[in-house]
Amino acid sequence: MENLPKRYDPAKREKKWRQYWEEQQVYRCNLDDGTPVYSIDTPPPTVSGDLHMGHCYSYSQPDFYARFHRMNGCNVFYPMGFDDNGLPTERLVENRLGITPDGVGTETFIREIVKISRELEENYEQLWKMLGLSVDWEHVYTTISFESRKAAQYSFIDLYRKDRIYRSSSPSIWCPACRTAIASAEVADLNRETTMITIPFRINNNESIPIATTRPELLPACVAVFVNPDDSGYRNLIGTTAITPLFNKQVPILGDEKADPEKGTGIVMCCTFGDTTDIKWWREHDLPLVGVIGADGILNAQAGFLAGLDIGSARRKIIEELRNQNLVMDETAVFQTVSVHERCDTPVEYVETKQWFVRVMDSKEELLEAGRKIHWYPGYMLSRYEDWVNNLEWDWCISRQRYHGVPFPLWYCSDCGSIILAENSELPVNPGIQSPTKPCECGNDNFVHESAVMDTWMTSSMTPQIAGKWLDPGDTFNRVFPMSLRPQAHDIIRTWTFYTILKSLYHFGEIPWTDIGISGHGLSPEGHKVSKSRAVNVSDPLAVMEKYSADAIRYWAASSRLGEDSMINEDKIAAGQKLVTKLWNVARFSSSFILDYEPPVAVPSLLPTDRWVLSELQQLTRDVSDSYRKYDHLTSKNRIEGYFWNAIADNYLEMVKSRLYDQPGGSIEKESARYTLYHVLKTVTRLLAPMMP
Ligand SMILES: [Zn+2]
Ligand SMILES: [Zn+2]
Repeated sequence: MENLPKRYDPAKREKKWRQYWEEQQVYRCNLDDGTPVYSIDTPPPTVSGDLHMGHCYSYSQPDFYARFHRMNGCNVFYPMGFDDNGLPTERLVENRLGITPDGVGTETFIREIVKISRELEENYEQLWKMLGLSVDWEHVYTTISFESRKAAQYSFIDLYRKDRIYRSSSPSIWCPACRTAIASAEVADLNRETTMITIPFRINNNESIPIATTRPELLPACVAVFVNPDDSGYRNLIGTTAITPLFNKQVPILGDEKADPEKGTGIVMCCTFGDTTDIKWWREHDLPLVGVIGADGILNAQAGFLAGLDIGSARRKIIEELRNQNLVMDETAVFQTVSVHERCDTPVEYVETKQWFVRVMDSKEELLEAGRKIHWYPGYMLSRYEDWVNNLEWDWCISRQRYHGVPFPLWYCSDCGSIILAENSELPVNPGIQSPTKPCECGNDNFVHESAVMDTWMTSSMTPQIAGKWLDPGDTFNRVFPMSLRPQAHDIIRTWTFYTILKSLYHFGEIPWTDIGISGHGLSPEGHKVSKSRAVNVSDPLAVMEKYSADAIRYWAASSRLGEDSMINEDKIAAGQKLVTKLWNVARFSSSFILDYEPPVAVPSLLPTDRWVLSELQQLTRDVSDSYRKYDHLTSKNRIEGYFWNAIADNYLEMVKSRLYDQPGGSIEKESARYTLYHVLKTVTRLLAPMMP
C-alpha cells in the first residue's frame, strides 16, 4: 500500500491505472494456457457518429462480468468490433464528404467509408479505454473488413450446400420507396387513420354483395372473394362467382376460416397482394397472380386505367371513379395498423420478385429449442424471442436491391441459368469483376452476377465467428466458441439474437452462447432513447468523466438491472463519486495503521466486534459473488454499499479509532483491529472492482 494524498483526484488516479493496465497487458487473453475461457460476443457499435452516455451505460455492464470472471481466474476473451458495413455509415460519409456512390463509384466510396470509420473507431477506442472497459484490443474486428466479408460469403456457400438457402420467385416484403426487398425483421407497425369504403360485387344480374376495403386501388389485382364457411348469411355463396366493380372481372367465391364474419361486411376480397393473408390464400387455394404494383411503387399495365400512378394517387383516382359511377355504398374513417419499412415509414407492399431466402419456417421448433437452451438474463426476455419465432410468417429474405454490401458469391450461367458458386479459396469474391475459374458444365463461359447484395445481417449474425476467427487456421475459435455471454439491447432480439442463433444452429448445430444478457437503454434526461444523432442534447461522456469520473459513470450503469432502461441521472453519478471518495478517505485513514502491514498467516486473536465484522464480510463476499454470477450487478452493488456505509464507515471505524490510536502496537486490541481493517478494505475494494475498477 502506498501513502495516499489527502484529496482524491480521479483524473490522475484513473489515468495512472489505465497506464498500468496497458503496460502490464492485464487484459491480454492468452488462450494457450489451460485456464477456462469466459468469452464475450461484444456488440459492435455502429460507426455513425460520436458515442454518448447511452453507450457508456450499455457497454459498462458487460465489462462488470468480464472483470468478475477474470478476477475469478478465467481467461477472458473480450474482443471489440465496429459495425461499419451498413447504411448509417454510408449516410455519414455522404453527409460529411458530400459524395455519393453513384458520383464517385463504389470502390472509391468504400475507401472513404473505411477511412472515416478508422478515424471514428480510434475515438471510440479512446473513450472505451477512458471508461475502463477491459477489452483485449488485440482482438478487434470491423464488419466491412476482408475477414467479415469472407465469413459472410463462406456462410452463404455452406448454408446453400446444406439446402438452408434457396432462390425463389415468390412474394416478398417490398419497400416501394427504397425499392428493395426487406426481411420481416425490418418491418414495424404504424397506426394511422384511413378510409374504408364499401363497394358492390355483382353475383348475378340483379344482386350484389358488399365488400369493405381500405385498399380499393388493388381492385384490379382481385383474384377471389372469401367468406367464412360458418357464416350462415353468406356460406351458400361458396362455389359461385362474383364480378368486380369497374374492372368487371369474374372471380370465385371461396370459403376460409380466416375470413372474419365480424370484420367489415364479413366478405373479403383477396388481391395479390394486399397483406399476408392474401398471400396465404393465394398459396392455399392456388389462385392466379395479378401483380399490379411495380418495384418502383407505380401501378403497371395490369392495373388498367390506374396504370402509371403511384399507390396514393391510384387510391384517390379509383375512389373518385367509384363515386362517379355510384358504386360507393359506404365510407368510414377507421384506424388501422399498417406494416411499414422501419427505416423510412413507407407502408410495405408484397411483390413477387426473385429473391434469396434462408429457410426459417421449417425450423421453428429447432430455433425455439435452441433459444430455450440459452440462459436468458433477465429470464423474461426469452419470451420475446419465442414470440418472434412463433409469429414468423416468412423465410429470411437475404437479398437487397442495393448497390453496397457483401455480394453473393456466385454467378449465373447466361446460357443454362445454372448457379456457379465461388470456391472457398477465392473468398471474399466480387463476382461483378471476377469470373468463375472454369466454364459452366454446359460448356458456356459467359456468366452474369447477382446484382442484389446480401442483407447486412448476413454479416452481423456472425459476430462470434468473426471475433473468434472461425476461418483462421489457428485454434482460437475452438477455444472461445460457443461463447459465454452475448450482451445486447432488447430492441434487437428479433434481429441480432435471432439471426445469430439461426446461423450457429445451421452451421454447427449448436447454440452460439451459453448466456445472453439483455441490457436496457441509457435514456436522455427527458426519457428518450439516446441515439447518436441526438447526442448533442445529452451530456457528453468525456465532459461527465471530467466533472466526476469513469467510476462514477460506471456506478450509474450499475444502478439498474439488466433489461431495465435508465435515465441519465446526475444524482446517481454524483453518488458514485461520493462512494469512491469515501473509499479513498477510509483507505487514507487506515493507511497510517496498515501501511506495509503483512497480515499474519494464522488468524490472530480477535475481539468480538472484529470477529463480527469479518464474518459479515465473508457472507458479503459469498452473496456478492453469487449475484455477479447471476448477472445481477445491482444486488452486488447494493450489498457492498450497505456494508461499507452502514457497518464500516458509520459504525466500525468510529468504534475502532480509539483502539488504533491509543493501544500500543502488539496489543491484542490493536492487532485485531489492524487485521480486520486490512481485510475489510482489501475485500470491499475487490468486490467493487468489477463495477468500479
Ligand atoms: Zn424503405
Ligand atoms: Zn450453363
